[in-house]
Amino acid sequence: MQSLIDHARTFHQKVSGGREQAASPRHGVSPQAMFVTCSDAQVIPSLITGARPGELFELRTAGNVIPPYRLGRLTAEAATIEYAVNILGVRDVIVCGHTRCGAVQGRVRSWTLRSAPTTRWWLLQTHRWREAPAVAEEDAARAHLVAQLDKLRRYPRVARRLAAGRLRLHGWFYEVETGVVSNYHPDTGAFTPL
Ligand SMILES: [Zn+2]
Repeated sequence: MQSLIDHARTFHQKVSGGREQAASPRHGVSPQAMFVTCSDAQVIPSLITGARPGELFELRTAGNVIPPYRLGRLTAEAATIEYAVNILGVRDVIVCGHTRCGAVQGRVRSWTLRSAPTTRWWLLQTHRWREAPAVAEEDAARAHLVAQLDKLRRYPRVARRLAAGRLRLHGWFYEVETGVVSNYHPDTGAFTPL
């Protein structure tokens, strides 16, 4: 923890010295995309995409779970998605899953979440497998990602903008071991490297 504090304490010196960028005036109020991914510390959106400050609007949840849309149901995820689409007007939303995902492991082997009942409940009530869960963990993680995309498509504003051709959804899968990022093709169900 101390190294994190030390870095934060001196960060302003790096900004003023030009070695780091604190904010991008060009993209400050208009991020290029919304990036939805897992809270996992191994997944760093700006590292994967090369995005600079101001270019990505992020939503991070355990297991990159997007709850089903329900009218009148208040969730942080729904509010964040609404803000990105309605207020910021993002044209692209990336939902990014990853290998070695503890949430997916917990979804497949629920006993691993015995000491985290809230997390277990969250994963169970927001995620129904489309079919029998895959045996291989990586297949399960990809199926999990596709399930989140399906739920996101049903958010009313997202659905309207998709229908109008004003929004694009991207399903990415990040391999933390290799750094390879694959893209999901809804028409074939295949994942191919970007
Ligand atoms: Zn994860």
